[in-house]
This record gives sequence, C-alpha cells and structure tokens, in this order.
Amino acid sequence: MTTTTTTTTTTRMPTLFVSHGAPTFALDPGLAGPKLQALGRALPKPAAVLIVSPHWMTRGARVGLSAQPETIHDFGGFPQPLYEIAYPAPGHAALAQRALDVLQQAGWSAQGEAQRGLDHGAWVPLLYLFPNADVPVFQVSLPMGLDAQGAWNFGQALAPLRDEGVLVIGSGSLTHNLYEFRSGHGNDAAYATAFTAWVREAVQQGDSARLRRTLDDAPHAQRAHPTTEHFLPLLVAAGAAGEGATAEVIDGGIAHGVLSMDSFVLGAPSAV
Ligand code: ZN
Repeated sequence: MTTTTTTTTTTRMPTLFVSHGAPTFALDPGLAGPKLQALGRALPKPAAVLIVSPHWMTRGARVGLSAQPETIHDFGGFPQPLYEIAYPAPGHAALAQRALDVLQQAGWSAQGEAQRGLDHGAWVPLLYLFPNADVPVFQVSLPMGLDAQGAWNFGQALAPLRDEGVLVIGSGSLTHNLYEFRSGHGNDAAYATAFTAWVREAVQQGDSARLRRTLDDAPHAQRAHPTTEHFLPLLVAAGAAGEGATAEVIDGGIAHGVLSMDSFVLGAPSAV
C-alpha cells in the first residue's frame, strides 16, 4: 500500500553574514560581488529580507515599516555614480511587524519606524544578492551598547522568523579598520588574513562560544575592529542560526588591502 502525503513546507531559511566593506563595493565587485550574485540565485527565494547594518544604530531596536523604503546615500566624498544608485525593493509591513513582535516577546525594547529607508550597509550587498530588487526588504537597527553575547541574543530573538520565509542578514565587514584604508587593492595585510582565518575556523566548526570570544581571543582583533559595530552583525546572524549551525564560507578576498570581504551562510540544511 502506498500513501501520498501532501505537505506544505515553509523552508527554514539560513541566515547570512555579508561583508559590505566600503560603499565603493557597489561599483567595484571584486571577488565578492559575483559570489554574492551566485549565492542569491542559489538560495530559496525569501518571503522577505531582514537586514541589520551597523549604519543604523539606535537605543533599543527599531524596525523599518516603510512600504517602499528609500535608498539612503549615507556617506560623503565618494564618486558621483554611487549617489545615483537606487535599490527600489518594496518593504514588507506584515513581516516587519512580526519582527517587532518576536523582539518584544524576547524582552527587547523595540519600536517601528514608518519612514526609515535602507542605508548603504543594506543596499550595497543586496545589489549583488538580489539585483532585481524583487525581494521585499526591511531593516532592523543594531541596538547600541551590545557586546558579543548581546548581539548573539539579539539574533536568537529573530530566529523564529526563519520559519516564516525571512532571510536574516547581518551586514558588516569581517575586518574593518578604515584608518588603514587604501584606495587600491592587493598587498593584503597579514593581520587581516590571520584574523579572517581564525573566524573562518570558528564558524566552520560551529563553535559559537569561540565565535562570541572573537574580539578577546582572535589574533589582531583590536586592529581588525578598532570599534565593534562592523563585527557584531556576524554574531546577530550566528545567533539567528543557533548553536552548532552549519556554515559555508564565501571567500570574498581582501579589498583595499585591509577589508576582509568574507561572507558566511549559516544554518542551511545543507551547503548551498
Ligand atoms: Zn559599513
């Protein structure tokens, strides 16, 4: 006897950490751009993207509720074509409201923001991941004052959304010392390579405790991240993926000699 079972499954979405490096990544794909494009094509199509960027930090959490978030050009002194880029993805009010709900249920202070657009930490990597801007996007702020454990907990609070088709993305930069920024590429700084290798190993081992200790234990952590805001989105993505999550490394190389452009797919059922 055979039985036919019809199941409606909502795929549990993986989470992503993406390195957005400098705003010029939008014009200069380097090694990472084509790989993010390929990743976007390989992923199950999300109902919406929830993206956390260090360029929106607030007291408590905020969630963008705009139906059509504007493209914010939140940088100065860059080439004119960067200011002409628009990323016209729609928002998703219902899933943004769900994000508010799950954060509040987990004890976070969170409120909606009706008019918030997308900052470059959000739209620059999305230009590669979803170039047609046909996946709804809403941004969640990075609460100020989080340490590594706090960022992890924040991500964990967002985890239920993965079962509702939401792709949780933490956007940062695997190394981010802008004091050492160089206009060209090449001649990669050894400290950036060493730090990247250490984090890759922690991620690939699914060793979340080690990952949370990165800024204390990894080689050259202070130099790689003089301030922590571009590192914490990795812990948000890892927290949303959960303890022991599988990981795939997207080797993005080192841009401008010092900006590690690695991205990670976390918690996928199998390697994407
Ligand atoms: Zn940035």
